[in-house]
Amino acid sequence: MNIPRKCRGCGAAIVFVKTPGGKAMPCDDAPLTYRTAPDGEIIITPNGDAVHGVAVAPGTAGATGWGYRPHWATCPDAVKFRKAITGPAEQMTMEQLAKAKQR
Ligand SMILES: [Zn+2]
Repeated sequence: MNIPRKCRGCGAAIVFVKTPGGKAMPCDDAPLTYRTAPDGEIIITPNGDAVHGVAVAPGTAGATGWGYRPHWATCPDAVKFRKAITGPAEQMTMEQLAKAKQR
């Protein structure tokens, strides 16, 4: 079950998706349709798996499924999440990190 919350950092609506490992992953409360792509962004499936994909319009032929964008990818206060999340957070771009540190 995904419980809607608000991000303590930026106030955006987020949902926590349980990962197979039992962690709760904060994600943007805006499900998106995606197509698997090795060089795409990280997308969290409803099962909590992290996959690489590109967002496509709902109903697009060949779409893989739907999922959520991890909130640390869009949150201006994402730097605060880095202690709580390991793994995918390491893949934040240097540009995103620099932006986060400026605040
Ligand atoms: Zn936020």
